[in-house]
Amino acid sequence: MDLALLDDVLATRGEPSFRTGQVWAWAAGGATGYEAMTNVPRSLRAALAEDVPFSTLDVVTEARSSDGTVKTLFRTADGHPVEAVLMRYRDGRRSVCVSSQSGCPLTCTFCATGRMRFGRNLTASEILDQVLHFRRVEAVDHAVFMGMGEPLMNVDAVVEAALRLPDVGVTHRRTTVSTVGWLPGLTRFAAEVTAPIRLALSLHAADPALRRELMPVEERYPLEDVLGVCRAHWERTRRRVFVEYVMLAGVNDDPGQARLLARTLGREAFKVNLIPYNPTGADREGRPLHGSSRDAIAAFKTELERARVPVTVRLTRGRDIAAACGQLASAPRIGARATTDAA
Ligand code: SAH
Repeated sequence: MDLALLDDVLATRGEPSFRTGQVWAWAAGGATGYEAMTNVPRSLRAALAEDVPFSTLDVVTEARSSDGTVKTLFRTADGHPVEAVLMRYRDGRRSVCVSSQSGCPLTCTFCATGRMRFGRNLTASEILDQVLHFRRVEAVDHAVFMGMGEPLMNVDAVVEAALRLPDVGVTHRRTTVSTVGWLPGLTRFAAEVTAPIRLALSLHAADPALRRELMPVEERYPLEDVLGVCRAHWERTRRRVFVEYVMLAGVNDDPGQARLLARTLGREAFKVNLIPYNPTGADREGRPLHGSSRDAIAAFKTELERARVPVTVRLTRGRDIAAACGQLASAPRIGARATTDAA
């Protein structure tokens, strides 16, 4: 729901200021439409249904994985494709993975999103509507900004959305914002966000030369500077920054690289999350990429443990429906409505 538009419409109609909060509380609680809002006058409900679309996003398709993961493809009102994923875990956790942009302007070699056309930053309402879509199906308790896009290139909308998530049932401590290390946004996030929202850094190589090959952003914002901001964030909050590390066979999975990673990070400020590579095809030069073997991942993990760096291996979800990390991408033709309108 476009909350700015909602505010405008209510103000124009001379409604008391508590109405916005009332409507938002219903939407955040999983209401399926204005008609459910029984403490809002019937005539106002009808007017809102006319003037403020209940969601800023239309559902285009939905895919279900054998592991219970659901991936939804949405379209914004101006035709941009956006994907979000609901992950269901055996322990009952329900985690929503949201997109912060349609597509992504960065071109990390191993990630499919960077290969689709970049659309634009999403608004806070468009980010929240992804969560609300799943909230209407069932209660959710975790959120990760790990879908399409680079959240900290869109830091205002991302933080605005994240700060509202507790209304939907997701506390700040159960909210994670992931970044490639987009320094301007990261610096602001580290300095300004006082809520205990978790920060995650996509690192993938401790050696800057290798990192540059995998993630062109390294050229612009060197790892050393990025880690400096992350350390400062840890010092202020005492909350470890999670480091994401996609395991690529023969590229970044050597035990020596694990030792360098451990030296680079130290024991205190970070926790490493090793991510099994999810197939996305070849890299930019057309060379095939392969995930590290289980044994290689285990050996890498052992090196980090030896250095007493906290480390876990991420559980893969939704691979069979291309909903796993790095697999979110949609063909530009999903935006056909906008193209047709423009033509
Ligand atoms: N742009 C932000 C938010 C996306 S998070 C960021 O990169 O942090 C998505 C995570 O999945 C990132 O850590 C990304 O590096 C990782 N990822 C990308 N492609 C992947 C792949 N093919 N297999 C496994 N993880 C991948």
